[in-house]
This record gives sequence, structure tokens and C-alpha cells, in this order.
Amino acid sequence: MIRYTISPDSPAAHIFAVSLEIDHPDPDGQIITLPAWIPGSYMIRDFAKNIVSLSATSGNKAVELVQIDKQSWRVSAVEESLRIDYLVYAWDLSVRAAHLDQTHAYFNGTSVFLKVCGQEDSPAKVVIQAADGMDGWSVATTLKIEKVDQAGYGTYEANNYEDLIDHPVEIGPLTWLDFEAASVPHQMAISGKHYLDQERLKSDLIRICDYHNRFFGLPSPVSRYLFLTMVVGDGYGGLEHKDSCSLLCSRNDLPSKDMDEMTESYRRFLGLCSHEYFHLWNVKRIRPERLKTADLSEEVYTELLWAFEGITSYYDELALTRCGCVTQESYLEMLAQTVTRVMRGPGRHKQSVADSSINAWTKFYKQDENAANAIVSYYAKGALVAFGLDVELRNKSDGRVCLDDLMRKLWVDYGQKDIGVPEEGIKDLAEALCGESLADFFRAYVKGIDELPLQDWFESMGIGMRLRPSLNQKDLGSSRMQQETKPLKHVLGARYQQKGDYIQITSVTEKGAAQKAGLSAGDCIVAVDGLQVKAADLDAFIDRFTPHDVVTLHAFRRDELMTFSFRPQTAKDDTCDLWLLPEDELTDMQKQRRQAWLGQVSD
Ligand code: ZN
Repeated sequence: MIRYTISPDSPAAHIFAVSLEIDHPDPDGQIITLPAWIPGSYMIRDFAKNIVSLSATSGNKAVELVQIDKQSWRVSAVEESLRIDYLVYAWDLSVRAAHLDQTHAYFNGTSVFLKVCGQEDSPAKVVIQAADGMDGWSVATTLKIEKVDQAGYGTYEANNYEDLIDHPVEIGPLTWLDFEAASVPHQMAISGKHYLDQERLKSDLIRICDYHNRFFGLPSPVSRYLFLTMVVGDGYGGLEHKDSCSLLCSRNDLPSKDMDEMTESYRRFLGLCSHEYFHLWNVKRIRPERLKTADLSEEVYTELLWAFEGITSYYDELALTRCGCVTQESYLEMLAQTVTRVMRGPGRHKQSVADSSINAWTKFYKQDENAANAIVSYYAKGALVAFGLDVELRNKSDGRVCLDDLMRKLWVDYGQKDIGVPEEGIKDLAEALCGESLADFFRAYVKGIDELPLQDWFESMGIGMRLRPSLNQKDLGSSRMQQETKPLKHVLGARYQQKGDYIQITSVTEKGAAQKAGLSAGDCIVAVDGLQVKAADLDAFIDRFTPHDVVTLHAFRRDELMTFSFRPQTAKDDTCDLWLLPEDELTDMQKQRRQAWLGQVSD
């Protein structure tokens, strides 16, 4: 038997105390190790760096430990059971690691549970203990309960190590939302100060969860589901697990009792819930072969993240309108914003979504100021490629099959059978479904960098699309055909923000006006044409000049004042509007397609 006991040892010092008891350690010396990364977040995070002390005992005698590498130790051979005691520093307020203070305790198994090498497939017990000063706190996790008290402290079970690390744990003064979807009990456990309209969120979550279950087909693959939500002043993130997900959101994302409208931030939060819930099938059960057998000590490479994250990103928002949480116009606005994000990155001409997937570990997860020029997001462009595949499947099959059918087939052929999806598996299955070759599509848009024929794709669905210059830095597109305000004509060719009295450049567009003038990310603009300008006014200020004007611009690079001669560039058509084409202008096919696409899920 393997047994872990974890307790919040010192909330003020952010230290969890963990003990690991191994009844039958390896007679040749037991190796223990901590993962370098957490499934779902493809970056080496070296969780073992937070282990601050480690010791081993057997029958009350100290046993020698030798460190083998950055995250593994070998414990000398012992004749009896072995006990490892260690402390873990937990001060990462994200969904990927562990966090402990006086307000709550949160951990992922990958941060706190050492793996007993050779016994990965053995069941384990987890004892979660309370600490002083935690009256009124309760435990939220989907770990299987063996015996716990009313607050959830006690003993849990895991089938094996993979199961052990797939159930994050939140302990704190929690708000619990209980609801049923697809005849399965669901809960949301919320930590952090909030002013939530609980009934409103609950009814939206029921729609979303019901929708996804009907989409893939009942019965639901889970017997219960848990959303763990940490509310902070400013934060955003989510991570999928098999029976739960961890979410981080901003207080203002959540609807308060006096709010009836659908705000952009609440819509985004519902999209996040929808995204992680869709993962319950796509990536947690329909799994890429390469990740199914993943070794968590080092990087694992797949070209399929565009499908597992991109298709999930496509459906997370589409589901919101299909299940009636947002209007079709509201959905088109979200989709237009995705198009805008992709169109603004020159990196889309250099990196395909397959490349973006395989380079997730370094390029996508370690983005710097040049990212937009060099890479493309397998989330955002992946969602557009998913949309294109949806259209292509309809085109090739005369409307007989669409991406919904592909997802259900992936679920039946791979997910339900627990078979990993091979690297070519999605293409092969899509071709089998529509009965035609999709080689050209995958060559051009998945493995290639051809510009997506978005206009044609949207038109076939009865949607109007146009690209135009932005109105200002915040404008990401809309679901309107007409613009009331005039778009910008001349721009800087850089992203920027207010920093004290200066405007700091955050990124410079490749071959844009700012780059041509010699400006770089990090430069702080002091004056434009001899005048101090605020970031909020810079767009309008520059718009008054033309590409024929030479404007003098003063900026600090580090502590050196530099002078630049700058010619504004003509604003690019990089902002997308999408709208429903008027009903009387649609062909029968467009009508049918739009209804099938934006309407309720088909059976
Ligand atoms: Zn995701």
C-alpha cells in the first residue's frame, strides 16, 4: 500500500507537509520522483524545485537518500516499510501548481505527491488533514472518498498515480453551487471574495453541461463533476481534469445580483467553463496517443494540440449560442475577435498550427515580445481551422456530415474504447466520414501556412464577413455590418501601454512603421512631435499625420534618451466584423447550413 498524508503545515509560510508511506519499497532501493509538468499545460515547470526538505525513515531509523536528478531521489534499500517526509513550498496562484495561505489551500498532485517508481499502477490512499485556524473550511476534490468527515477531511483513494494527480484539491471557506446536468450531480466550489448571483450562474452552467453531454451522447461519461473556481481581483486561467477542472477568474467576471445583461467578461467566463467541460471528452478521454503514455519527466511532442485545444476553443463559444446562453450576434462577435487576433499576427505566415503544437513547450508557453511576429496560437488559429474543417466536411459530403459528427466518431472510436488518437488519426477519420480526400485541406491549413479562405467559409454558412482597419487599440471586431465610428487611417505599427508619464511599447509589428523608425519593445515614448501624449490618445494623435509626414519621436531605451524619425503607416485591414446575412438574400443551402451550424444540437 502507498499512503500520502498532506496537511497545511504553515499557511503563513506557504508550506504543505507531506508524508509518503510505502509498505513494500523496491528491495534494490526505492526511486521517488516528482513530475516536471502537469498534463494540459505543456511547459516544463520543475515542480520539484519547491520541495524544501526531504528525509526518509524506516522503523524509526533514518535512511539514506541520494538525489539522482533535478526531480528524483534513490532511497537506500530497507527491509521494512519506508516513510518519506517532505515539505513543499506553495505560492503559485495559478491552476497549475499549489498555493497556500491563511485564505485557502489549493494543490495539484503533480506539485505535492512524489511518484513511487515501479508502483505507478498501484492504488494509493490520500489523507487530507486540517490545520489550526481553518474552522468553517471544507475540502473540494473529485478524489474517490474512502472515509471523510463532514468538512471533507479524511481518507481518499486513487486507482494509480495517473489518477492520483488528476484530481486537484481546494480547501477553504467555500461557496458551493449544486446542480444536476445530464442526470449527473455537478458542483462548483468557489473560493475567494465574490458577489456572485448564484442562481444565474447555476442556470447557465446547467445549459452548458447539458448541451455538451447531449452533443457527445448520453449517458454522461462522469458520475459527478466539479468546477473548482478561485476568484481573485485580476486573473484568468483554466485547466482540465477527468472529472473536474480548476478555474481562475476575476471578481468582475462573475455576474452580481444587480446585473441582468451579458457582459463581455461574464461571457468569457462561461466560455472558460464550457472549454474545460468540453475537454472532459476532447483530450481527457479522446486522447492523443503521444500524450496517453506521456512521461511527465520531460517534454512529449504532438502535432495535434491544434485539434485538442483548437477544436475545444471552437466549440466552447459555439456551444454558448447553441445552448441559448448568448445570442447568435454575441457569438459572432466572439468569433470575429478570434479572427482579428489571428489576422493581427504576422507569425501566421511563418508557423502552421501543427508546428505551433509541437513547439508549445518553448514557443507558445514562453512567448516574448516577438511572439506575434514569429508564432501562431494553436488555440485561436486552431479554432478557425476547426471552423474550416466543419465547412469542408459539409462541402465534401453535401451537408451530410459536419465537425459534430467527427467529434462523436472520435468519442466512439477512441474515447469510449480508451485508444489513443494517432498523429494522422483525425485526418483519417474525417476522410472516412465524408468519403473524400482532405489532403489538400490538411496540407494547406493544418501543416501549411496558407491564408485561410475565411470569407468563403463564412459565406457558405450565411454569414457576412469583412476586414477593416481598427477603430482603436481596444477594437477587436464586432458583429455589426456598419461602423458608426470612423476607423483609423494611420497607425504606429506597435502595441503599447501607459507606464507612468510615458507610453511603453510592448511589441513592434514586423516591417511596421515603428520598426522602420527603429523603435523596439520596451522603449518608453516621452514625446510625439514635441508633445507629451497619453497612451489613450496616441491612436487619434498619430491618425492626424500621413505616411508623407516625418514625425519626430523621443523615447527612452533603458535610461538613454533617443530620437526617432517616424512616418505613420496606413492602417491594415486586420479587424474582423461578422454578421448574419439577411434571410431574403440567402440561398436554400445557406439557410440550411446556418440553421444546422448555429441552431440546437442535432440528434
Ligand atoms: Zn484547453
